[in-house]
Amino acid sequence: MKIERITWRVVDFPLARDFHPAWARGRNQPNLLMVLIEVQTDEGVTGIGAAHAGIEAAVAIERFVAPYFIGQDPTYVERLVPVLRDAEILGAPVYCMEMTLWDIVGKLAGLPVAKLWGGYSDRVVAYCATAEVRSPEQRVDDVHRMLAQGYKAVKFRFHLPDPRQDLKVVEAVRAAVGDRIEIMVDANQAGVEPGHGGHRTWGFPMALTVARELERMKVRWLEEPLPRHDYDGLRRLRDKLDTLAIAGGEDNHGLHEFKLLIDRGCYDILQPDALLSEGVGEMRKIAALAEVSRVEVAPHTWGNGIGLMANLHLAAAIPNCPFLEFPDDPPSGWTAAARDQMLAEPLVIDRQGCVRVPDRPGFGLVLDEERIARHTVSAHSVSSGD
Ligand SMILES: [Mg+2]
Repeated sequence: MKIERITWRVVDFPLARDFHPAWARGRNQPNLLMVLIEVQTDEGVTGIGAAHAGIEAAVAIERFVAPYFIGQDPTYVERLVPVLRDAEILGAPVYCMEMTLWDIVGKLAGLPVAKLWGGYSDRVVAYCATAEVRSPEQRVDDVHRMLAQGYKAVKFRFHLPDPRQDLKVVEAVRAAVGDRIEIMVDANQAGVEPGHGGHRTWGFPMALTVARELERMKVRWLEEPLPRHDYDGLRRLRDKLDTLAIAGGEDNHGLHEFKLLIDRGCYDILQPDALLSEGVGEMRKIAALAEVSRVEVAPHTWGNGIGLMANLHLAAAIPNCPFLEFPDDPPSGWTAAARDQMLAEPLVIDRQGCVRVPDRPGFGLVLDEERIARHTVSAHSVSSGD
């Protein structure tokens, strides 16, 4: 079997309503931008993937991936992984390309990828990942809605100039619903936004102060309390806590750095993402390293439903995944329906707050072709005859 043709389309979906992500204060995000990738073989099987990116990923695929993939057997995934690792040196990360290969392997085997990998479960508990900063009163209303939907866990964003104001959201929710919902908090301190027109940079003393308050309120984890390369600070913070877990990793890259995060004791919970941080198959290796170090893995997802699907299969295939990130923050424009608008069969939570792995071969993606065609900005392809 050989890869005969690769096509990739930049697709720009509008959001129906305003969306003000907490990590980009003052900005309205009007759209969902992605690159949809299809890898076609000479035996008629096609692998699907998507980048959480725009034209920059399209260029990286064209220049640094497609020339090495065309003509190769897509079932020898391990031979092609180094291409993706090297692509990142020169262009945008395109770990998403590994997903297309596993989609092909799963389709050939007639198995969902999660089962192909030995499978741990057919479903994963979702947590409702909010994105906006809202008042305590609004968040109490939101949590009542989440509980009615079946959610068992929610994640809030701490981004106000004074984190003591952020803490009031957790206090209000605990007062309103007690322990009926697990609570997580994301400080988004690992990337570029703090101190860069975004929100406040915390530093170690602030991270510890907030963490101790969250521990008192029985919060499950604090995510990204410090910069992504502050390995010593993360370890020191973790050492000072008893029940609150420290989570992170969405902004770290590659199997080798995740090993470093484990070896240095930075996190209780690692959050790699199949589109952003490492290939979905390589994430199994991260999960195995984590497992032997008694660290959990809860994949990060943000940009689109195709990435969520990849992370879902990984989450269901490993024994050390407590939760799956499930972005959904109505009444803003960023809802589960908006996130999955490229899929004819979007991912939903059931009454137990779980997301089920579709019982279809590969990743089980069913595309809404008509909608994708309507919002395609540019289309690119390379084939073995070119
Ligand atoms: Mg996060």
